[in-house]
Amino acid sequence: MKDTLKHKGMRNKLAEILVEKGIVNSKVLDAIKTIPRHLFLDSSFEDHAYQDKAFPIGAEQTISQPFTVAFQSELLQVKPHDEILEIGTGSGYQTAVLLHLKAKVFTIERQQELFKKTKLFFTKMGYRPKKTIFGDGYIGLESEAPFDGIIVTAGAPYVPNPLLAQLKIGGRLVIPVGIDEQIMTLFIRKSELEFEKKEFGSFRFVPMLEDKN
Ligand code: SAH
Repeated sequence: MKDTLKHKGMRNKLAEILVEKGIVNSKVLDAIKTIPRHLFLDSSFEDHAYQDKAFPIGAEQTISQPFTVAFQSELLQVKPHDEILEIGTGSGYQTAVLLHLKAKVFTIERQQELFKKTKLFFTKMGYRPKKTIFGDGYIGLESEAPFDGIIVTAGAPYVPNPLLAQLKIGGRLVIPVGIDEQIMTLFIRKSELEFEKKEFGSFRFVPMLEDKN
């Protein structure tokens, strides 16, 4: 599969749709216009790549909807060289967006099949996260903490304490919280013990699961 002018045109249209839906961060929009999302899907689904929809990627998982990726990325307020922890590598598309924002990305996936597949895909594409980890996002990544930002891309039934604990002062945790439906929630660490919490609209994610397989 390759990337063509036709794909680029479709990405520009997708970015326009995201602007209409309220995305304003130009760097995030630039990531949407640049990253070949169709290559993150199986080739037979290429036609769906530039619609603003989530899509199955195998192993009962989905690539998040472009609007959701853009919305979460915007809430994270990534600056170049920020250290960002991502929970739920999935297809790697959100990872690629974070890399485009020049973050140092640590990404965790609990589905072994998907973990292996996406790791190979990163190599093939020349995407370079700092670390790809097969493990459980509920415990975060103590060895690399604290982080400037943590983004959870699966629906969390509750906010795992280790994720709050692994934020720098001023750091941001973006996490969809809920069971059937999730409220996009932002935590900003104000001090050692204080967190500011803000809630945004409701979203639908595949569940954040606690055991590995
Ligand atoms: N960021 C991904 C979204 C994938 S969907 C993308 O852009 O494609 C959510 C992913 O979270 C799934 O791949 C799922 O396997 C993973 N996941 C679920 N629970 C997890 C956990 N406890 N730790 C790490 N990953 C988890």
